[in-house]
Amino acid sequence: MKIKQNQSILLGLHLTLFLMFSCSWDQFVLNRVTENTNVKSKAAKELLDKDKITIVLTGTGSPLPSESIQNSTAVFVNGQFLVFDCGDGVAMAMEKLHLPVTEINAVFVTHFHSDHFADLGEVIDRSWLLGRKKNLNVYGPKGITELVNGFLKSYNLEYYYRTKHHGEEIMPSQWSGAKPNEFYPKSDGSSKIVYEKDGVVVHAFFVNHVPVEPAVGYRIEYKGKSIVISGDTADSEVLKKQSSGVDFLISEVMNKSMIANIEKSYETIGNPKFTKIMKDIQLYHIDVSELAKLAEEAKVKTLVLTHMIPFVKGYFQTKSIYKDPVRKEFNGDLIIAEDGKRIEIPLP
Ligand SMILES: [Zn+2]
Ligand SMILES: [Zn+2]
Repeated sequence: MKIKQNQSILLGLHLTLFLMFSCSWDQFVLNRVTENTNVKSKAAKELLDKDKITIVLTGTGSPLPSESIQNSTAVFVNGQFLVFDCGDGVAMAMEKLHLPVTEINAVFVTHFHSDHFADLGEVIDRSWLLGRKKNLNVYGPKGITELVNGFLKSYNLEYYYRTKHHGEEIMPSQWSGAKPNEFYPKSDGSSKIVYEKDGVVVHAFFVNHVPVEPAVGYRIEYKGKSIVISGDTADSEVLKKQSSGVDFLISEVMNKSMIANIEKSYETIGNPKFTKIMKDIQLYHIDVSELAKLAEEAKVKTLVLTHMIPFVKGYFQTKSIYKDPVRKEFNGDLIIAEDGKRIEIPLP
């Protein structure tokens, strides 16, 4: 009898614990979903605020392995969400940063090295899955049509299954995918307007990333403010001309003496493949001192270093490899990019 009594007490206790646990678990999930939704809508409201321009350095890495997401810069201007390049990891990074991906107006690709476009398929797909109900335009130089169409082809079944499963109302097939917009800037160093909407203008210009041709940089202008995104480039007169007097130059950068050291180390240990790669890459990137000189001569107000090769972390390494060489030549403001960093530009 006593055993039966103990068993029923135990059973009651289990039931109470189960009910308590499941009730609080329900509440916990509800709280998390509500909190997450509120955080997202607050972030969207802030970023789409028309009284300022916000730059989000979504990904600041390069093809060399590092802790950083590969290259991507988001610019929020006059309620528009413009994405410049989308290397590996960018789609998830944008969601983790609560960027309003359903509102992306356009993606601009600088060139066809994979660290600048690897996640394009995911950016197109995730923005649609989460609720994009407008065309997504992807801009780029010659080659962008082939690239976008290649992604669309490889995602064809994905689009089909999602709509079939959730229905046309939830996953309208008309907004899946994206539209390529190919442009041809002149090779005389001038820029070409490739995007114009409600006062926001984006120019494209050729940079020097030979043998990668075409390779472009972009200049975004709105209400007297200007931002240049270099793409990948060696030292370039065109980049200097296009950066003249800009508020922000967001540029790739390489510390060539460090890379030359890495090259020498590979040679010493008898690795001809990586010796050659380290030698070659010095030819089509800009050295930190060249960039600082370019920015000073162009009278750039703020220089932002991103796509840093090599990637370094911590105060002392960043200081000696990037900050100190820049400071020898450049007197304007300097920002060392980090994944997720926001830069706000108040508008007049
Ligand atoms: Zn790159
Ligand atoms: Zn490149």
